Amino acid sequence: MNVQSVLAVYYAFNQNCENAVHYFTLAGNALENSAVIKTKWGVNLQELLNNLVSVQDYTIIMGGLLKGRVIPSTDYIIDKSVSAIFVMKNEENVASACINCGACVLNCPGKLNPKYVLDNPTKKMAKNQKSKCMGCNVCSYVCPAKINLSKYMKEGN
Ligand code: SF4
Ligand code: SF4
Repeated sequence: MNVQSVLAVYYAFNQNCENAVHYFTLAGNALENSAVIKTKWGVNLQELLNNLVSVQDYTIIMGGLLKGRVIPSTDYIIDKSVSAIFVMKNEENVASACINCGACVLNCPGKLNPKYVLDNPTKKMAKNQKSKCMGCNVCSYVCPAKINLSKYMKEGN
């Protein structure tokens, strides 16, 4: 447990702390319903998701769908930094051809070009781009052709 988590737990159990109550948006296609959640800091995300998630295989995105980051586990303590959590189904999507929309490039928080890497996997510049990828998966989520770009970014990296 890191310092942030210890603080969140402290606030959660300190009944006199007026800031302990927190609101955030919980949404996504893996949930029965989307809602604004009122909770205390220090609550574990897994507790909140019990009985709310309708599928077994899902991905949690902290923050917005375009600029958010994927968290690896539901073992996550809610604190005041949480504004929105999206719970998205891991669907077996069939990819179609790239339509050159540029969404993967425009939305990459690392200002990388996953489309270039997809097309030029053996080029030196592609390897350089791969080494800078933070694995956030945003490019895959925004791609209208459902190409798993982040998988290509991770391959051989
Ligand atoms: S997974 Fe890598 S390439 Fe894709 S959006 Fe995130 S940082 Fe950019
Ligand atoms: S987001 Fe998908 S369809 Fe658009 S340019 Fe990138 S790879 Fe092609």
